[in-house]
Amino acid sequence: MTNLSQGGLDGASQLDEHGTLEFWAATYSVQAYALRDYCALYTDLHQLLEQRQAQRGGVVVHVEEETGAVRRAAQRVTRMATVLSCFPAITASCRAFTKTSVGYERRVLALLRADTLKSYAAVFETVARNGLPAGKMGDNVILTCGSLIQGISGVMGVHTVPCDSSDDYNLEIYSEFVKAAAESHVLDHACRIVLRGLEAEATAAPKSVQRVGRSPDMDMPTLLGHFHLAINKTVLSLVAPLELRQSNGALHPRPLAAPRTGTDPALLALLPAVRGVLSGTGVQMWAAKQLLDVANMAATMGPAAATTGAAEAEGASRYLGLPPAVRTPPRLLTHAVLLSSGHADVTNSLQLALSVARAMWEMTMSGPLAPVMRMPGAPAEGSTARRGVATAAGPAAGGSAAGGASGGGSVAGGSAGGDSAAGGSAASGSAASGSAAARTSSLYRLPRSIPLSAGQVCALITTALNGVVEPQAQGQALYAVRRGSQVQGEMASMVALACRLASELQPQRAAAVLRRLWKTAASWLVHMRAPEAHVALKRMLASLGALLLHEYPGEGAASARPQRATAAGGQVKADGRTLAFAVALEAGLVEWLAAALEGALAGAAEWHVPAYGVAMLTDLLLRPSCALPPLLAHADGTSLFRLLETLRIAGETTRDQMTLRGQDPQATKEYVLVGGNVMCIIVQLLEQVTAVYMRAPPEGLESCIHGPGDSSSGSSAGGVPGAAAAGSGGLPGQPVPDAAAAAIDRTAAALLTKTCRSQVPKQRLRRMWLMTRGRKPFAVLALSRLLPTLFPFRQAAFLDAGARDSVLGLTTVYTAPALQLLRVVLALPAGSSCAASPTAAARQTAALRESRAESWRGLLMADEGVALTWVAAVLAAATACKWPEVTAAALDLLEVLVLALPPEAVAARVQLVRGAGVAGAAALPPAGRMLPLVLGEGWLRQQGREKLAAALTERACRMSRGADGGGSNSSSGGGGGGAGGGAWPLCTQWTDADLQLCEAVAGKHQLASVPEVPAPIEVMWLLPKELGVKVCAGPGCSQLDPGKVASSHHACEGCAVAAYCSAECKAAHVRAGHQRLECAGMRAGRETCESLYAGRWPEQWAV
Ligand SMILES: [Zn+2]
Ligand SMILES: [Zn+2]
Repeated sequence: MTNLSQGGLDGASQLDEHGTLEFWAATYSVQAYALRDYCALYTDLHQLLEQRQAQRGGVVVHVEEETGAVRRAAQRVTRMATVLSCFPAITASCRAFTKTSVGYERRVLALLRADTLKSYAAVFETVARNGLPAGKMGDNVILTCGSLIQGISGVMGVHTVPCDSSDDYNLEIYSEFVKAAAESHVLDHACRIVLRGLEAEATAAPKSVQRVGRSPDMDMPTLLGHFHLAINKTVLSLVAPLELRQSNGALHPRPLAAPRTGTDPALLALLPAVRGVLSGTGVQMWAAKQLLDVANMAATMGPAAATTGAAEAEGASRYLGLPPAVRTPPRLLTHAVLLSSGHADVTNSLQLALSVARAMWEMTMSGPLAPVMRMPGAPAEGSTARRGVATAAGPAAGGSAAGGASGGGSVAGGSAGGDSAAGGSAASGSAASGSAAARTSSLYRLPRSIPLSAGQVCALITTALNGVVEPQAQGQALYAVRRGSQVQGEMASMVALACRLASELQPQRAAAVLRRLWKTAASWLVHMRAPEAHVALKRMLASLGALLLHEYPGEGAASARPQRATAAGGQVKADGRTLAFAVALEAGLVEWLAAALEGALAGAAEWHVPAYGVAMLTDLLLRPSCALPPLLAHADGTSLFRLLETLRIAGETTRDQMTLRGQDPQATKEYVLVGGNVMCIIVQLLEQVTAVYMRAPPEGLESCIHGPGDSSSGSSAGGVPGAAAAGSGGLPGQPVPDAAAAAIDRTAAALLTKTCRSQVPKQRLRRMWLMTRGRKPFAVLALSRLLPTLFPFRQAAFLDAGARDSVLGLTTVYTAPALQLLRVVLALPAGSSCAASPTAAARQTAALRESRAESWRGLLMADEGVALTWVAAVLAAATACKWPEVTAAALDLLEVLVLALPPEAVAARVQLVRGAGVAGAAALPPAGRMLPLVLGEGWLRQQGREKLAAALTERACRMSRGADGGGSNSSSGGGGGGAGGGAWPLCTQWTDADLQLCEAVAGKHQLASVPEVPAPIEVMWLLPKELGVKVCAGPGCSQLDPGKVASSHHACEGCAVAAYCSAECKAAHVRAGHQRLECAGMRAGRETCESLYAGRWPEQWAV
């Protein structure tokens, strides 16, 4: 064979030029005859061997040791194999399958149209059915089959994998190949041979590693290894043209997205046939087997492999119920084989295995609840695709029955029971919840040739990836992390695939799969620091995020929720948690997310690169998933505390990095980019938190959730269906009543920016509102800790044209505490002083309100009046960039602030330019980014803010009168000191202008419905008492361990609220003006809390 291909170069050009289609057709006909003969001879040989074995009482017969009929039959098989090997040699000699050679298409089409693949398939089928003879003869058979399978990848018409453009494949040849492959089941039988060969090798008596006189290249494991690679390359080539720039989910059996516009319809028409080829039992088992091998591979490659490898391999093989006979012993794993033969790149074989499994299952696998995408104008799309699969896969299923006792076949039989069990539970599940059954009337069924259920595939994926990502013994670096980012990319795609499948399962079966999935994802993310890996994770993180608020149709609230979670609380609460969310929480989502963020920060510091990982984790896992507000409501407090602190430190760290001026302008640019991204993400997270917790809720939401009766009615399964449905709208898996859904959508559109809503399904936003009740202290904690990281934004280059939505978002975020302040201010007693209140209880209430006002004011007026500075910066930017809605939002915020802040604090920072007409300076828009904010009365009127202008005018008049009296500005600095706080509005009567403005503001923001939340001071005082942790009050402190602050002895003596991790932080806080600005107020707040709460949470804010 080698001689022929080298010596035939002259003949090659002759054949290249003169070999006609007819010539090649004739050649391949001859080959087909030869192949047919080979099958017959092989069957004969096998029968003889079986007879001989029976005569010998079952002892394995080696052909080499036989004489007579057996020997003669073996010789005939070998001779025919020699003839067969001439054909690949001829084609190789004339570069027949090289795209650039003359007449390439002609030859390949001749081969495909001569039913060559059918002949190959017949050979593979014969070998797979009969098994391999022991000894050298078996090696020869594999060698022959291997040369055939290697020829296959040459005739597919796919030149480059993955395909980047239509130049990388030849559509005519590719379609011919797909048709031939679908008709012949050649790939399915080829996979069976390898499965069978591995099975034979695994069960064979252990033999000396090397047989005498044999080159290791011709050893059975090596031959199988090459066979293995050839199949994988064929599978990848088969899917490559279809995958070309196709959007994620477009190729699923039940597509999640429309095909890329401009995709050749002829190519798309091949999809059902390709799916049919890949749905063969043998091919599916082949991929499953490889994933198990990946797990084994990782186990045997780790540093502890020598001791634990075998045990790990055994553990991994338990999945699918693989009998011992078909487990692959470590010595037969492809990577080990190829390594020992000095051949291949192991990474490559791992990556190949993952790619094959991923590409194949993405195109063939869907869970029973897989959603159907309704194509506009083509309602029958999904059903035709499925019919296509069914017809294409039908014969393959027949083939598997004929395959009989092959390795694939036996396992397929074992798992068929599991599949039907899945169907059974699906039926009972849908029977239990009638409305759900109506909504998912057509459950998806996999083609019968696929021996695995979606749940089993998920288990396989997590098993394989766990093997790769789990830290090996002795703290060694992760196997996968040491590999290239391409492997990481494949692994991430696998997780994304598992996420999709997990979301398509029956809720009853999903919990276990989800648990494993989160475990895998967590152990990967927590241990991954290498920055280049983060790019690979994008898809995976998005899929994991989408899973967080996923709802299974008809998942009953009480029945689906894990019981353990409710057992701790002692009573079942209909808290609206979805199954997927509850499982993620149980799997420690918050803890490992915090750990992963820390790791990403540490990794970035270690590698001196921007913290891409932080940006990606927070963005993809928390923002579009809408998961942060529900986490604040449901997660364990201590972990939540830690997560929020990690987020804050991540924000501060990336922000600090933005100001680094390195040598390399490109590096600086990247720091600014990542820092800016993190800032924008934090803005959006706070948008969600404040919208859900601190603004007026969507109308009718409460009655939708609780119904007319009590909240417990939703969990009573025996109730009247109609009555339960009325009150169960908020329960997971139940349709949200239309009115409530519309109200939530309206509220979302009003309170969240488009960026924040983009790519978030409405269903998820609704669920965010429905799952988020109670636990307001954590929302306040999030706001009061994260908002300060955004203070420096007002000067940043952030205020450019691209930042419109972030500016708008942060403005609405500032509006939430401003409304809280206004709410408290309006509730303050109108009397002159709290001491005059008649009863002790009234005095206490008044003191609490004053403390709250003081606390909110402290947040809004920190940094010498940050909220007003923000308004000034935003108005300047909005004017420059022509953003009318941003101007409106900023003026909305200003209206609230003008009413809620002490008049002198406003007067010192906002100046009104008065004048008649619209032509003068009074009509000019504000231009300065810094304080004082100069507003033209005429301009305000142009904006329709007559009431604001009137109120400011009144105030200016009053202030000028006050200034004559002397020095009232002295108390207006910074956070509105104690004196300033107490003075408003007790000593001042509101003017008519104020009252009119207040009426307008209260209507606009539905002030009466704005929920009561604790003030930051209350949270800072009470949370440590509840959780035993404290945060460091040092500005910009990056101490991550709240427990350390609690145990340190650094605290402010004045207020006994501000605690510090170190003397440095304490000194920094003093320098920042703590004593001057806030200490007294915090002391008063602490005393109020102490007397009011006695160190215990008030009932309404139970955590
Ligand atoms: Zn500190
Ligand atoms: Zn203090």
